[in-house]
Amino acid sequence: MGEFDLIAHYFQRPARRAALGIGDDCALLTPTPGHQLAISSDMLVSGRHFFADVDPNALGHKSLAVNLSDLAACGARPVAFTLALSLPHANESWLAPFSQGLLALADAFDCELIGGDTTQGPLNICITVFGEVPVAQGCSLALLRSGARAGDDLYVSGTLGDARLALDALLGKITLPAEILAVARQRLEMPTPRVALGVALRGVASAAIDVSDGLLGDLGHILKMSGVGATVQVGKATQLIATDPLFTWSREQFDAQTLASYRRTLALAGGDDYELLFTAAPDQRAAVAAAAQASQTPVTRIGQIDAASGLRLLDAQGQPVENTFVSFDHFG
Ligand code: ADP
Ligand code: MG
Repeated sequence: MGEFDLIAHYFQRPARRAALGIGDDCALLTPTPGHQLAISSDMLVSGRHFFADVDPNALGHKSLAVNLSDLAACGARPVAFTLALSLPHANESWLAPFSQGLLALADAFDCELIGGDTTQGPLNICITVFGEVPVAQGCSLALLRSGARAGDDLYVSGTLGDARLALDALLGKITLPAEILAVARQRLEMPTPRVALGVALRGVASAAIDVSDGLLGDLGHILKMSGVGATVQVGKATQLIATDPLFTWSREQFDAQTLASYRRTLALAGGDDYELLFTAAPDQRAAVAAAAQASQTPVTRIGQIDAASGLRLLDAQGQPVENTFVSFDHFG
């Protein structure tokens, strides 16, 4: 199968909202009046972001999901995306499930594939997504990292740490019972971008980011760009590990203290969570609850923003917890 047959067969579909889709030198998009474009790219490299033998359907899903998660963090609604794909061979038993996983998620979020590039080379997937955010009275409603203010509440959506738990098991660092691995692996390989929550938080949240490299590391980006500090209730975060109630398996592998510290690492520095971490003024608590309900996304208050710079971690007794958690950094 040649390059152009491959594109036509696996990726080209009739244009829907795009004025012009795949096939010409450029795609054409007509912006919705009164909106700004929100644009983000993420690259997934074989052996770095995923195992070369990962289920291609799940890989297609995740490649787009991590990009949609960036739109969610800005409160943008997805519109379209491009796909730059480098492939060792035009392997149809890989391309068919990859494109199915990718396009199924695209359809679920009404986000149209409008173009891309295809080359032969090491497996590498680069997606650029385009979303829209309304502008009201000359002000963008996009959620930014820079808007957190002292006194704001700090929230995170969904669950934390399960993707890292699965990764550690797949890397052979820990041993998980099959049924727990299945739950955790779903979180690693098939993350759900929190688009509806991001949209519902427009005008409610003061700052937001998606958690991709680990909760504390990503919180650090909000703190730096907002010029504030924060206090995090560590126990609230560790309670968000979905597989936590199943941690009875771990007694054979860890003593109590090591387990407590491992749970903190999972929740605070796990990475690949693709949840939204956001801040909102205390008078917005009812509005945050309404946004969570409207988007059917659980949200938990895990701390607060402080005027004093730096990050403080407190345990359930209010005692300080030393911050030894390291977030993912490709060149770190
Ligand atoms: P050009 O040489 O002008 O860059 P190409 O020949 O590379 O264009 O691509 C032909 C058409 O197919 C273009 O519309 C391009 O956007 C689209 N395309 C190429 N690769 C992909 C892909 N992996 N997914 C979706 N569209 C693609
Ligand atoms: Mg061209």
